[in-house]
Amino acid sequence: MSEQQPAVTQATLVKKAAPKSDYKPADVSPQRRVQRSFAVRLWSIRHSRLLEWFYSRFADAFLLLHPLWKGLGYGRVEAPIKFVEKRVKGFMFDCRMCGQCILSSTGMSCPMNCPKQLRNGPCGGVRANGNCEVEPNMPCVWVKAWEGSQNMVNSDKILTVQKPVDQSLRETSAWLRVTAQAAAAREAAAAPKTGAAA
Ligand code: SF4
Repeated sequence: MSEQQPAVTQATLVKKAAPKSDYKPADVSPQRRVQRSFAVRLWSIRHSRLLEWFYSRFADAFLLLHPLWKGLGYGRVEAPIKFVEKRVKGFMFDCRMCGQCILSSTGMSCPMNCPKQLRNGPCGGVRANGNCEVEPNMPCVWVKAWEGSQNMVNSDKILTVQKPVDQSLRETSAWLRVTAQAAAAREAAAAPKTGAAA
C-alpha cells in the first residue's frame, strides 16, 4: 500500500531553495505561527452580522463626536484612540493597523493576516482543506472572508475592488480617518452650491 505524499506547494519549494542560516526572526518563526490560536478571529467572522450591526452604530456615534474630536484636534486625540483601536481590533481580528480598514467588506476577516497581504481575494495556493499555502495551520483569510461576508446584510461589499495598501497609512487610526472623511462629506453635501444657474 503506497503512503500518501505531502503536497508540494510553492512555499515548500521556496523554503527548500532558501540558503541555510541560523538566524530565524522571532516574529515570523514557523513554530510561533503554528502555536498561534485563531479562535477569537474565527469567532468574529462567525459573528460578522452582529459585528456589522455594532460597527454601524459605533461609526455613527464616533461621527456624532466629530465636533469634540475637531475641538480637541484630531492630531491630539490620535494617540489615545489608536491605543484603544489597536488593542480592541488586535484582540478581535488580529488587526495589523494598516490604517485603511476594510473589515466590513471582508466578512470581518482582516486581509492583512494573509501572508501575501492580498486585498482582493485569495491566491491560487489555497489548500484543499481551505487553509493557507504559506501557513498550513491557518485557515485562508479569504475563504473565511467569503463565509463571513455571506452572513452580513451588505454581503455584496466583498465584490468591491480594493485599492492597493497605502503603506504611508500604517499605524494610523482607521476609526478617526473614516470619521473625518464622513464629516467632510456631510459638510460638503450641506454646503450651498455656488455657481448654480440662476
Ligand atoms: S484591514 Fe487594516 S485596520 Fe482593518 S483590521 Fe485589518 S489591519 Fe486592521
